[in-house]
Amino acid sequence: MPRGDGTGPTGQGPGTGGGRGRGMGRQGGPRAAGPGGECVCPVCGEKAPHVAGTPCSSQVCPKCGARMARA
Ligand SMILES: [Zn+2]
Repeated sequence: MPRGDGTGPTGQGPGTGGGRGRGMGRQGGPRAAGPGGECVCPVCGEKAPHVAGTPCSSQVCPKCGARMARA
């Protein structure tokens, strides 16, 4: 339950400062192969890991050579 983001109703009590530490600190490093980084071939359904910096539309299917799409 998100709280302390400033958009909620007032009257939370003197609990200011308890919201720090959220947002950063988790998975802040270089994303190597995170979830969701996958491309899928719309033709044969072959899946390939998404290469950072290279759109799926720029990749080709290793099986049939069709352009990949985001999974
Ligand atoms: Zn394919």
